Amino acid sequence: MEINRETVKINGKKAAAAVRAEVASAVRCLREQGKRAPKLSVILVGEDAASRTYVKGKEKACQEVGIESETIVLPAETSQDDLLQAIRRLNEDSHTDGILVQLPLPPQIDEEQVVQAIDPDKDVDGFHIRNVGKLTKGKAARYLPCTPSGIIELLHRNQIPIEGKHCVVIGRSNLVGKPLALLLLEENGTVTLCHSKTADLSSFCRSADILVVATGNPRMIHGSMIKPGAVVIDVGIHRGEKGLCGDVDTESCMGIASAITPVPGGVGPMTVAMLMKNCLEAYRVLHAGRAEKQ
Ligand code: NDP
Repeated sequence: MEINRETVKINGKKAAAAVRAEVASAVRCLREQGKRAPKLSVILVGEDAASRTYVKGKEKACQEVGIESETIVLPAETSQDDLLQAIRRLNEDSHTDGILVQLPLPPQIDEEQVVQAIDPDKDVDGFHIRNVGKLTKGKAARYLPCTPSGIIELLHRNQIPIEGKHCVVIGRSNLVGKPLALLLLEENGTVTLCHSKTADLSSFCRSADILVVATGNPRMIHGSMIKPGAVVIDVGIHRGEKGLCGDVDTESCMGIASAITPVPGGVGPMTVAMLMKNCLEAYRVLHAGRAEKQ
């Protein structure tokens, strides 16, 4: 095995700050033209501590880039009908550009029905079936899900080529793995999508030029499982006694991988930055729609 290679830590904070700065500059331009700021409405059902932290992070990012944000907090016992009604109100509100329902939702709520109730033009998470369908068709997609599109942005901004590379994605969730596989394919990568039933996972890992790990298992991928010179993207986030860690054992990959995303400070910051980008796009979509109707 090749060792003592210099492994670059891919700086997600820096790339995310650059994305946010671009959004902030676009919002400033709108304001200078006398237009209102884009607005994101977030619905939070219940008191889940992790969800509250994620929502706070989104509010902070909005504030930083000049996007107006509103958080609608509903009690944990909210009924399906009441939640759907709140979404309908936001769908019809001409001052709300982006709508996001923070997941997971309490057990009495049908998550899928809620996601599909959001106006696809305001679906800044990119989870609506219309946006997912567009994603499968290629470049026509308007709102790309934030974590996968953040990973592509991170690769681009670090001049990591995708075309012709063997990209192995471990994890096939609708949130991360599946959409990411489609995006890598769109970038002309040769994609292998692995999951918990994949036989001989290690051999797929060892053949990857770009290895993306999104399994939800702390430190499951070790340096001994990766190809020397591979780019390793760690999507996992786990809070342990020693702080945060990912799905990859970062230390054991140092000196073997050519580049790796750290946890924290890798993929995580990109997710919220891409949400800001989607909110700006939603504003443009709504305004373009109005201009067409006028
Ligand atoms: P899910 O639990 O929805 O999906 C996990 C996927 O990993 C499944 O497809 C599962 O396979 C696969 N998997 C699980 N164990 C193994 C294994 N031992 N070998 C191979 N494949 C396995 O998780 P998410 O996609 O939502 O999230 C994945 C990770 O990313 C989590 O740690 C999460 O916290 C993190 N995350 C981070 C974000 C960020 O902004 N940084 C955003 C979203 C998620 P199968 O389908 O067969 O069950």
